[in-house]
Amino acid sequence: MKPIVLFGSPGSGKGTQAKMLTDCLGVPHFSTGDMLRDRIRHGNQISPMVAAKMHSGALVSDELVNQLVMEQITGPEASRGFVLDGYPRTLAQAEHLCKWLDGSGLREVVIHLAVDYNVIIARLTGRRMCPRCGTLYNVASRPPRVDEQCDLDGQKLVIREDDSEEVIRERLAAYDRQTRPVLDYYRKAGRRVVQVDANYDPPGVIFQRIRGAVEADDCSKNGG
Ligand SMILES: [Zn+2]
Repeated sequence: MKPIVLFGSPGSGKGTQAKMLTDCLGVPHFSTGDMLRDRIRHGNQISPMVAAKMHSGALVSDELVNQLVMEQITGPEASRGFVLDGYPRTLAQAEHLCKWLDGSGLREVVIHLAVDYNVIIARLTGRRMCPRCGTLYNVASRPPRVDEQCDLDGQKLVIREDDSEEVIRERLAAYDRQTRPVLDYYRKAGRRVVQVDANYDPPGVIFQRIRGAVEADDCSKNGG
């Protein structure tokens, strides 16, 4: 039983790594964002007030998020382990999860996909989109054949508003404000946080690093 807690800023490739991990280990991937949206879609288990809060982008209470996550990780699907993504997001959530894991005799592996924000900004601000057909390009990694023109229809490519430097900087700063105290909590509590360099290498290489960290954890447990 291997609980994995995955942290990574916007643009760190966290979604890709979460998918590779779940495919490789055969365990479910629980993303709190998906979980909440799912609840709202499938019925009345969330009060209209919470649903309204969600839609308006406001934060949902720690209590509700904890409850949703507990239902998932104590379910039969998670009996062989799980990957948590987007949780814990606050100190109260981290304390709750750690307490539950300790009480269950489990020890998580915390993976932090560490990236240099300048690298992320360069990558994300390099994104271009064709306003006509929606094809995505990247001036660095997937350039069009002719500068700033769509390969398919010759339209002049545009930068989406979400990819503007200002918006990306604000999202990264918000992520930092939220996540830093949670990672500090893990470190101060003496729990193992594995930093994985996720700056330049292709997803497969980064994944091998994560796997190495997860397996090293197994060895240290067996040895000690
Ligand atoms: Zn096009």
